[in-house]
Amino acid sequence: MKWLLLTTLLILNIFTSGQQPWREGEMQVRVYASSRAELDFIRQSCLNLDFCDGFMRAYLTPEELGKLSTFGILTETEISNLNEWSASFGPAGVPNGYYTVAQLDEIADSLAVNFPDICTLHTIGIGSGFNVLYALKISDNSAEDEDEPEILFDGGIHGDEVGGPENMIRFARDLCLQYNNDPYITDLVNNREIWIIYCLNPYGRNYMTRYNQAGIDINRDCGYMWNGEGNSPGPFSQPETKALRGILAGNQFVIHCSYHSGT
Ligand SMILES: [Zn+2]
Repeated sequence: MKWLLLTTLLILNIFTSGQQPWREGEMQVRVYASSRAELDFIRQSCLNLDFCDGFMRAYLTPEELGKLSTFGILTETEISNLNEWSASFGPAGVPNGYYTVAQLDEIADSLAVNFPDICTLHTIGIGSGFNVLYALKISDNSAEDEDEPEILFDGGIHGDEVGGPENMIRFARDLCLQYNNDPYITDLVNNREIWIIYCLNPYGRNYMTRYNQAGIDINRDCGYMWNGEGNSPGPFSQPETKALRGILAGNQFVIHCSYHSGT
């Protein structure tokens, strides 16, 4: 049985290692809608995009871009080949100066080991690509569920937005290092239960892609207002969103802050 499992994992690993992190030919494109009809067409097309200041930033296959052009919608390509762009970051997978997933996990582990009274590390699921999903809980008596307001932060749901995990792990480190040094931070740690999912999409971070290993934008995979964007086949279809739902259901968060960033 053990050998069967190992063989299966090996085959899956071989399969996934040849996979491209973005869709075939995918591009990053600015989209300028100049009329209600164009906006309606874009919405009906279920494209993967974010609203920015005066334009939409979309992630499009050549076929999707062709449909916009045929409709007469103005576009401007920012990155013409996202798979090549991802590969350009080399073995580290992230821009110089940013932590890798392994380094993020090492810092999280070291915080839990060195500050056991105020910091505990929780496994909240196994993400796509066999990546373990972690959450740090930082609070006085962190091993106990006390009667204190609970707050959730997450970062890195879009793996290519490297600012999120960076921000989250540095925030966690500041909370631990400044506890009993900085009065404001000490008060926060004493009177809040602060949960930090510092990297919700490790596969995406490893390969500098918006998607998880299944090619799905997990920020379009939750239940509220789900509409099939981002290649999502249904609400909470992915292990990352199931893990997020689990931690949300298991606690009483008064604030949930999700960090996104540029690349
Ligand atoms: Zn994002």
